[in-house]
Amino acid sequence: MKRLCIALVTAGWVGALIASAAAQPPAAPAPAAQPPAAQPPAPLAPTAWKAGVAAVKITPEEPLWMAGYASRKKPSEGVAADLFAKALAIEDPVGTRLVIVTLDLISVPRTLRDWLEAAVQEKHALKPPSLLMNCSHTHCGPELRASRLADDEAKVPHAPAAERYVAALQQKLVALVGDALARLTPARLDFQRGRAGFAMNRRRPTRKGYNNAPYFDGPVDHEVPVLRVADLQGKLVAVLFGYACHNTTMGDYLIRGDYAGYAQQYLEEEHPGVTALFMIGCGGDQNPYPRGKEEHAKYHGRSLALAVEAALQTPPKPLRGPLCLAFEDVSLAFAPVPPREELEKTAASNKTPDAGHAQRLLKELQETGKIRATYACPVQVVRFGRDLTLVAIGGETVVDYALRLKRELAGPSVWVAGYSNDVFTYLPSARVLREGGYEAGGASKWGSLPGPFAADVEDRVVGKILELARRPIESQPAAVDLNVGQEATVQLVNGQTATVKLLEVQEQRDSLRNALRLARVTVEVNGRPVTLGSATYHLPVTAGDVQIDCPITRGYNQNIDYWGLDADARLRLWPAGYPLITPGTFSYPVNQRWFASHTLMANQIGDGEDVKKKPIYYHWGLDLGGAERMVDVLAATDGQVVSAAGELLQPGTYPDLVKPRGDVLYLRDARGWYYRYSHLDSIDPSAGLGAKVNMGQKIGVLGKQGASGGWSHLHFDIVAPQPSGRWGILEGYALLFEAYHDAHPLEVLQAVARPHQLAAVGEAVTLDGSRSWSRHGPDHIASHTWTFSDGKTARGPTAKRRYDKPGSYSEILKVVDKDGNLDYDFAVVRVQDSEAPDQKPPSIHAAYWPTCDIKAGDELTFKVRSFSVAPDEGQEEWNFGDGSPPVCVQSDGNAQALAPDGYAVTQHTYLNAGHYLAQVSRTNRRGETATARLEIVVRP
Ligand SMILES: [Zn+2]
Ligand SMILES: [Zn+2]
Repeated sequence: MKRLCIALVTAGWVGALIASAAAQPPAAPAPAAQPPAAQPPAPLAPTAWKAGVAAVKITPEEPLWMAGYASRKKPSEGVAADLFAKALAIEDPVGTRLVIVTLDLISVPRTLRDWLEAAVQEKHALKPPSLLMNCSHTHCGPELRASRLADDEAKVPHAPAAERYVAALQQKLVALVGDALARLTPARLDFQRGRAGFAMNRRRPTRKGYNNAPYFDGPVDHEVPVLRVADLQGKLVAVLFGYACHNTTMGDYLIRGDYAGYAQQYLEEEHPGVTALFMIGCGGDQNPYPRGKEEHAKYHGRSLALAVEAALQTPPKPLRGPLCLAFEDVSLAFAPVPPREELEKTAASNKTPDAGHAQRLLKELQETGKIRATYACPVQVVRFGRDLTLVAIGGETVVDYALRLKRELAGPSVWVAGYSNDVFTYLPSARVLREGGYEAGGASKWGSLPGPFAADVEDRVVGKILELARRPIESQPAAVDLNVGQEATVQLVNGQTATVKLLEVQEQRDSLRNALRLARVTVEVNGRPVTLGSATYHLPVTAGDVQIDCPITRGYNQNIDYWGLDADARLRLWPAGYPLITPGTFSYPVNQRWFASHTLMANQIGDGEDVKKKPIYYHWGLDLGGAERMVDVLAATDGQVVSAAGELLQPGTYPDLVKPRGDVLYLRDARGWYYRYSHLDSIDPSAGLGAKVNMGQKIGVLGKQGASGGWSHLHFDIVAPQPSGRWGILEGYALLFEAYHDAHPLEVLQAVARPHQLAAVGEAVTLDGSRSWSRHGPDHIASHTWTFSDGKTARGPTAKRRYDKPGSYSEILKVVDKDGNLDYDFAVVRVQDSEAPDQKPPSIHAAYWPTCDIKAGDELTFKVRSFSVAPDEGQEEWNFGDGSPPVCVQSDGNAQALAPDGYAVTQHTYLNAGHYLAQVSRTNRRGETATARLEIVVRP
């Protein structure tokens, strides 16, 4: 490989370009005075969904026999409101598709599902798990089962019309799915919830069993789950909503969608151009009350539409991929049927509906030699990554299923739909089955299935759903080390391959230490050029159907080979939309707010910035500052403690990078990775050598023991096998970011003004807030505003500053998103007089506790320690940002790094809710000031 090093001095920046690629001439020097270019904003997980929606009218065009009530004596006599079939198509970033078809109909017969499944597979290559069909269960629509009509003398003449209706419906549905797929365009998906109260349990216990009547004390599910589909500008395109209630306000001879039809109609009237789709929940034992009048159906529809509107006003939870789909049948056993003689006796009686039921079973026995003993109930699980689990169950599902699954699947949001893919009969829970009555098996006497189900029906259904919903979304990075000009094909975790070529590595060094401050690599991923910042708070970037990041370049791996890197750069790849690591196997290792204090992440310089110090110490781990002896340190993974307090569990069996020390603990997990925790003030007794610990378990307390430099922080790093075949650091910043934000779904915006910088007096410094993150993607950030130490302000992701006095500055970045959310971060700039390298300016570390869920009136503890000042040189002055008078304290100036009382401690209470910026400063004898800032969010 040919390497060219061109040093160019650009306004204080020394840039070195490592170029190679035999064909490439040396790059021309950049124009003078060009600041470091703004980073391309880096979405953690893309919002690269596509969605398409379509609707078709399915109102019968002739009088039809109506479904739902056995007591009807004649076909339909008109139309009160039209019926619709609608389809919402969704495609995730790797091309997995889901089409949800909703029907204003009584039922989805399995025959209809099977027909459409085959048709769309042939026509659109849509696989069976990608199709979800749900009906609203309106009792004011047509009977779809012509064969059932043909079985009944009074209804025989109406069978052909039902057959014609279903034949036309099938053709409409296959075209509908095609239309929705054809309209797939980039979209944003959010989950929100509202509440509506008109459903009431309809199983009233009486002396003679359970009556169909409103029963206030029975279980209900009043949640209104809402999937909001918007275009990339945030404009609403479609809204899919659910409710667990029979669609039975009306039972006359007019066609209509009942309350669910009206709710969709009202939403579409309120939001012109928007398609509203209704998916019924587990409402098998729920009725809308009051009922019986057209106005009731409209009121309930209005209530439900308003609940959707209310949901749309709640904080949206953006959904990420990947789409994980599963569709399987679970075999449900029936209780044993009576012997033949008994069936014959019942068949001969004139008891309704028992006689007809016995006749149908005898007919089955005669034709097939047996009566079926089981029924194949379809269950479907759709996971939107780890954000939402949508469960769709066949049958007239009773409410207990939703309540239980929401409990047992909690973690992601959970949405349970009933009446999906096959509405065969009631699907009772164990409780309903025990209690008996209509939903427990009484209703099946009107059909042709034996009944009731066996006692294990609920456990079988729930067991299958849990199995499908808990299939892990396996993920971890696929890494490759490349020299400039080299190309490699990488296999990603899902089996997909990607071709990646390293085109260029560009390094930026500072003027004072000639230390590497930023490396930027240009790569070609599947032919598409992408520029990535190496580590230093950069998250993976999505390029086409992959995510890619660059954890390390050669320039950072100079003195000790922590990374196991032989090449110019390491690249890591994941499929687009995938989590960076298998969800549920990695979590944030401290119980505090993101960026609650100072941090030093991979590749950031961690030696206190003494300009005379050599060699430069490029940090490979992740330092999370926090309040000494107050922050719990947690196991980031399930694992075993293989080193604690200077001991090794099995000496001689670990990679060389696993180095025991008194303040250090190492965990090893099932992947064989090692997790280092340093500077612990104490190790928890439950995490002694050899202990097996669970993810999230407390293993110690954050401190400044060992070689901490005197600031209290957790040093955390991960050691894993690397492409070179050696052990090395696995860059963990992006994993921490994902783990933290998965656990805090409502934190949708993150200002990022890090890493800290070093500048000479008078030199131009570019502050960079372009790494700021929005859960909705980079385009959702509306503004970046800077407020500087001298009171001046600037707008934009980057801002240029010069400082005429040495010190440690903390500049405020405020980021606002398009929904009005805001967040702050602080850009730390350490300014040194280049003429006086011996005069190290002061620096300062501040932290507070607690950092999460602070309520007005809570007492907070603030800790501060200054560095490079004598113990008696000045004092720290706190300004808590709430108008209260300043408070002065004096820390020891880090005279003795490990002094147990080195930090100055003070308490403060915020009396009102708000977003506060606290500031603390200390000035040395030369008049040089170090300032630190903290962001404190106080809830009402
Ligand atoms: Zn029903
Ligand atoms: Zn560290």
